[in-house]
Amino acid sequence: MDFALTPGQRELRARAAAFVDEVLIPLELTAELAGGRLPEADRRHVRDQARERGLDSGNHAVELGGRGWDNVEQVLVQEELGRNTNAIWWNMAGGYNVLSSGTPEQIERYLRPTLRGERADAYAVTEGGAGSDTGAIAGTAVETAGGWHLSTEKWFVTTGDVADYFIVMVNVVRDGERLPTLFLVDRDTPGIEVVDDPPFTHNYPHGHPTIRFECDLPADAVLGGPDLVGKGDELQNEWFVEERIHIGARCVGAMRRLLAETVDWTIQRRQFGSRIFDFQGVSFPLADSASDCLAARLLVYHVACMADDPAADRKLVHHRASAAKLFASEAAHRCADRAVQAFGGRGYMRTNTAERFLRELRVDRIWEGTSEIQRLIVARGLERRGVETLLDVTG
Ligand SMILES: Cc1cc2nc3c(=O)[nH]c(=O)nc-3n(C[C@H](O)[C@H](O)[C@H](O)COP(=O)(O)OP(=O)(O)OC[C@H]3O[C@@H](n4cnc5c(N)ncnc54)[C@H](O)[C@@H]3O)c2cc1C
Repeated sequence: MDFALTPGQRELRARAAAFVDEVLIPLELTAELAGGRLPEADRRHVRDQARERGLDSGNHAVELGGRGWDNVEQVLVQEELGRNTNAIWWNMAGGYNVLSSGTPEQIERYLRPTLRGERADAYAVTEGGAGSDTGAIAGTAVETAGGWHLSTEKWFVTTGDVADYFIVMVNVVRDGERLPTLFLVDRDTPGIEVVDDPPFTHNYPHGHPTIRFECDLPADAVLGGPDLVGKGDELQNEWFVEERIHIGARCVGAMRRLLAETVDWTIQRRQFGSRIFDFQGVSFPLADSASDCLAARLLVYHVACMADDPAADRKLVHHRASAAKLFASEAAHRCADRAVQAFGGRGYMRTNTAERFLRELRVDRIWEGTSEIQRLIVARGLERRGVETLLDVTG
């Protein structure tokens, strides 16, 4: 019940806030007008500054090359990063959490250099016929004399245009069984083809191409080694929980910035002889946005604290992480829409923060499980855990 931060947590949050204000926000307009792609010198500046200020790779253990932050610390940093449009923070070093399940050799070859910013990963799960329903994945890996043959086409592979390796989810076909498994695939493996690289609504640093994999892989390409064949779903669930908490936190940061800029504007803008803030038609939606932001912030902090408690029921953490992602992403999009309205015609300019957030926040209701999929998870929780258990934040 006590969300008071320790001095160390306060310092971390202040450090992240300064990085966002001093390094990321000044690059937003350049990024927006360049379709999201900053010059290499700017991208390097972001990566180096994040490293210098100790703000990258927070989700991995110190002994693996990360910073070993707990969930609350990750949320504090992600919330600040969420104040940034155009996802310029993507240029920071960082690796997917499933990589920590790699074999010692994979940790050396993939995870450590990724956390140092020397390699870049992309995570390929979705297929043309398997989006929300990951159980419908048709991609396969078949054992061969030298290792594996991988055959699949993956859609929406974020960072797939620049990544130098991929984490690919397919089914190992063994004795008639289909075993969901994650593979590590180097980009220079023969048989990888980008078949489409369409533009998307946001102007972000990297694309989300469709990639065809028809390639032979060595025997040691299974993430985590032979014991993790068939364990892809379990690894992925851990990733989903972390990503959903992070999305919730970034949405809170976006709402804070939207509110700050909209309140400033509506207080100084005058029409009909008054500050427009004094028209309830303008200030009441901002009060709704403040309530949305507060509720989302409390929920995200609660789930982060719960995720840090080793005694917490992991299934409940999963249900509540979905509730947090659902509420925060829907709320942030509402806030962006209200902010655009309060800015009037200026809110429709791409140089306006609210305009960019209105486009960018839309995808938070789609990726890492759509809002409908989060509702399915929460609804299942109501039935399986019981209403009182699902809603009890005091236990
Ligand atoms: C910009 C972007 C980046 C992405 N990055 C990645 C990435 O890096 N790696 C990756 O693997 N994937 C990525 N994705 C894919 C993303 O995770 C999927 O788009 C998402 O899971 C939804 O799948 P789908 O698009 O196939 O929609 P569908 O699953 O076809 O859903 C279409 C609609 O039907 C609804 N629906 C589906 N099933 C149900 C149900 N049971 N009950 C109620 N409603 C339902 C959905 O909520 C949605 O509204 C990305 C997507 C985008 C847009």
